[in-house]
Amino acid sequence: MASITFLGTGGGRYVVLSQRRYSGGIFLDLESRILLDPGPGALIRALEFNIKPEKLDAIFVSHRHLDHYSDAEVMIEAMTSGTKKKRGSLVIEGNTLPYISEYHQKAVDVLSPKAGDVFKINDLKVQAIPTAGHVDSLGFRFHSKFGTVTYSSDTDLDESLIEYYKNTRILILNCIFPSGKEIKTHLNVDKAIEIAQKARPKLLVLTHFGMQMLNSNPKKEAERVEKESGVKTIAARDGMTLDLDNLSRNMGEQAKLF
Ligand SMILES: [Zn+2]
Repeated sequence: MASITFLGTGGGRYVVLSQRRYSGGIFLDLESRILLDPGPGALIRALEFNIKPEKLDAIFVSHRHLDHYSDAEVMIEAMTSGTKKKRGSLVIEGNTLPYISEYHQKAVDVLSPKAGDVFKINDLKVQAIPTAGHVDSLGFRFHSKFGTVTYSSDTDLDESLIEYYKNTRILILNCIFPSGKEIKTHLNVDKAIEIAQKARPKLLVLTHFGMQMLNSNPKKEAERVEKESGVKTIAARDGMTLDLDNLSRNMGEQAKLF
């Protein structure tokens, strides 16, 4: 089964430190098995949600903020039988690599792509994509036979990013703030609406919620994005799995077009 499981949907210091939402990253089970942005609790949540870390093919780290990289080392150990077997890849933004010990780097193949670079993890073609307005950070496009999955990582909205979000089956946006909260380093719901209108993914998934977003109710915010853009939109929940083989059945009547 090709699937995406959210090991965490929290973002920003207050939510992460309170664990009001988990912060374990996103697990992609496509042509290869990838853990994206392992924040605090990644190993615990992987075990809680029955994901076998020793079967991972790669760990991806988009940037050097704690809620994205903190558990990369423990996940490398879990992927490599405690570093006994050299296996798997660490795909990591270049300025974030020094945050990972040499001991752990040696246990994996390290790849530090630049925005625009295309590479493969087993049979899965991946493109590193740019972000805007944030500390050095990469998003990723996964060109799977189950459809393209695009992850924005932390970014502001910039017109130049839209082309990277287009032609996507599932677009995952780190939408930390609700509508009306303007900030130049991250997305809010107003910007998510603009992206949805322009990029038109088959399914938009909002995640990485900060405290104000949680207080606004992400489900209601997602409903507003859908109403204003006409793009099917959901708010991720901790432990939520999207089954890519049967997405339309999962998503109910509205999603027949998948
Ligand atoms: Zn973040």
